[in-house]
Amino acid sequence: MNSGQTILAGLGTELGWIRDTYRDLHRHPELSLEEHRTSQLVAEKLTTFGFEVTHLGGTGVVGVLANGEGSTVLARADMDALPVTEETDLPYASEVAGVMHACGHDVHVSTLLGAAKLMADGRDAWSGTYIALFQPAEEVGAGARAMVDDGLVTNVPRPDVAFAQHVMPIEAGTVAVSAGPVLSAGDSLKITVYGKGAHGSMPHMAVDPVVLAASIVLRLQTVVSRDIRPGDFAVVTVGALNAGTKSNIIADRATLLLNIRTYDAHVRSTVLAAIERIVRGECITAESPREPEFEYYDQFPLTSNHSAVTDQVTAAFAAHFGSDAIVAATRQTASEDFSRIPDAFGVPYTFWLLGGVDPETYGDAVERGSVSRDIPANHSPYFAPVLDPTLEVGVRAHVVAALTYLAVTS
Ligand code: ZN
Ligand code: ZN
Repeated sequence: MNSGQTILAGLGTELGWIRDTYRDLHRHPELSLEEHRTSQLVAEKLTTFGFEVTHLGGTGVVGVLANGEGSTVLARADMDALPVTEETDLPYASEVAGVMHACGHDVHVSTLLGAAKLMADGRDAWSGTYIALFQPAEEVGAGARAMVDDGLVTNVPRPDVAFAQHVMPIEAGTVAVSAGPVLSAGDSLKITVYGKGAHGSMPHMAVDPVVLAASIVLRLQTVVSRDIRPGDFAVVTVGALNAGTKSNIIADRATLLLNIRTYDAHVRSTVLAAIERIVRGECITAESPREPEFEYYDQFPLTSNHSAVTDQVTAAFAAHFGSDAIVAATRQTASEDFSRIPDAFGVPYTFWLLGGVDPETYGDAVERGSVSRDIPANHSPYFAPVLDPTLEVGVRAHVVAALTYLAVTS
């Protein structure tokens, strides 16, 4: 038996409590930055397993298992749920009104706890340091930064490599992984433009912010079509546009809420510069009396998998699960804040997607490695990853990835 087999031999007897933990977390979802119960549950389990536990960034928890000479591996799970009312009829559906684990972060917590238990019980079979990190508030892009700001780099041993996984609507039993950009950078931007208010019957006395904002919205459509090189990816969406209260009043300001997604730092800076340029230009054209204001929020970094680390982990996954179970991850326009953690340490990482859809349930709708419209996606009130084999594969993936870097002693 190699060390992976030795460590994973105990998985069968652990799956019971891992499933129970998943159902318990799913029944008791907590919103971003309010993960108190989850955080306590995680800290208690890690302590029982023999990890040294540190609390960082409010509800963030880090467990460190120092086990002799060798590399240090960090694995991360996010813990927060969403303001979604669950519509599934699962026996373990959310018991909290208006809150649901609709993104599967309960899968991430329970599988990483499972891996942590196996690594602790199997410590004679490897050496090095294993870090299990549980972060708050991924959904609002604040949790990883909160842990970094609270001293992550000085309070936790520096890892050599970092890993995370995300359950997605792809076939359960499969893992999707690719080198390079896998999740986009995401920026939200609030723009306020100013006009001059007047009676609705006297437009000549006003600077109308509704006309100004409308013009900005149309002109923003040229950012992707005219400023970005064909073939490069960018999304610019105006998700909200607000001005005025009444038909016969010309308002004195308008606000626009934009969402921006990119896979490349240069494309991102080009897009942001083009947006600001267009807004300023339209304000000049309209004779706006005040400079426009730009307020960036809910910002997510790019997730770009390190190629050598990803190759090594992909090969280990293929050896463990069989190459049929490993598919190439298609780029997602969703975003994640995981990369702030390895970036804070300056270390490489890989982030893989974990299949969570029961092929029996959805039949032909299940596509390997891609997401079908017929399947409830993350953030849907019907999102319901199948427990088996999703949880088992999630635990195995964490252990196999870790052992790729930890010294094997038996
Ligand atoms: Zn999410
Ligand atoms: Zn998520």
